[in-house]
Amino acid sequence: MSVLVYIENFGGKLKKQNFELASFASKLAESTNSTAKALVLGTINNAEIEKLNQFGIEKIIKVEGESFNIRINKVFTQVIEEVVLKENVSMVLFPDNNTGKALAPRLSVRLRAGFVSGVVSLPESYNPFIIIKRAFSGKAFAKVKINTPTKILSLAINSFGLHEKPVTLKIEYFETQVSFADVPIKMVERKVSENKVSLFDADIVVSGGRGMRGPENWKPLEDLATVLGAATACSRPVSDDGWRSHDEHVGQTGKIIAPNLYIAVGISGATQHVAGVSRSKCLVAINTDSDAPIFEVANYGILGDVQKILPKLTEAFKAFKGD
Ligand SMILES: Cc1cc2nc3c(=O)[nH]c(=O)nc-3n(C[C@H](O)[C@H](O)[C@H](O)COP(=O)(O)OP(=O)(O)OC[C@H]3O[C@@H](n4cnc5c(N)ncnc54)[C@H](O)[C@@H]3O)c2cc1C
Repeated sequence: MSVLVYIENFGGKLKKQNFELASFASKLAESTNSTAKALVLGTINNAEIEKLNQFGIEKIIKVEGESFNIRINKVFTQVIEEVVLKENVSMVLFPDNNTGKALAPRLSVRLRAGFVSGVVSLPESYNPFIIIKRAFSGKAFAKVKINTPTKILSLAINSFGLHEKPVTLKIEYFETQVSFADVPIKMVERKVSENKVSLFDADIVVSGGRGMRGPENWKPLEDLATVLGAATACSRPVSDDGWRSHDEHVGQTGKIIAPNLYIAVGISGATQHVAGVSRSKCLVAINTDSDAPIFEVANYGILGDVQKILPKLTEAFKAFKGD
């Protein structure tokens, strides 16, 4: 028996979330006396994927080919299914993000395997298999039982952390029988986020809301992010109104992040927004309204106009860093 983790290939690079998933898969394997394996599709150097051995992955199954550089859900699911059957996999692990949301349910149907999304910790018990997942936008937790022999899980990103466990790793190349011939969709355009730092990996995030009063006012927020080496994010109305791109949107319907520091700039703190950032280690809010709900969840609050405060903060951090 083995545990298989799906490793997302970010243009030939791995990200922190891959290592977190590997850590989780390794612990699952340890608890069930099985082996932790990883599946990677597309173009990526062996030197890059070998980093997974630091997190308990003993075998990497590599499916090579440029056609796998773009995720076609139908094809990818079939390839994963082939690997699961060949490798005698009992648990399959995905990230709880757009990729996991696209692949895991499809695989669940194909394998007739129980699927639990948004898992936050290791199983409470293995027999029966009971695991805890996020519910109600992270405001509650649910205990879920999986009855099927094969189990599919998606892990809430930043919920488990990195756990190093160096092991010897081998790489095996897998020749898939799946073809792209009858794929009914075609990639028209691919836009890569302009964020220099990925939101999921960022230690610091500076995030703007409607209190920024318009896209033309974002420069001071970007300046602060640059000084701090932070990623930028935004509230949903900001991306809905086209002030910022949708990949910056955090919250219940956007990305769920857990940086060390989250700076909420002109954001009221609606529950749907907080659902995406409440796991931040430290939350700082800047707002003109002392009754804004964001101050109820913030560790530190700055009462005032963002356009006056942002440049002062940037200058202060520059001076602190000696820039
Ligand atoms: C089903 C559903 C899902 C949703 N999902 C999400 C989600 O994923 N993410 C999300 O963000 N929202 C989501 N929302 C929307 C959410 O309910 C709020 O409407 C939204 O978060 C508010 O965005 P905001 O804080 O930018 O704007 P506002 O609520 O308008 O707040 C603006 C804040 O800026 C302050 N302000 C104004 N001027 C200044 C200034 N000059 N200086 C400092 N502060 C100033 C104001 O005091 C106010 O607190 C969802 C809503 C629904 C119904």
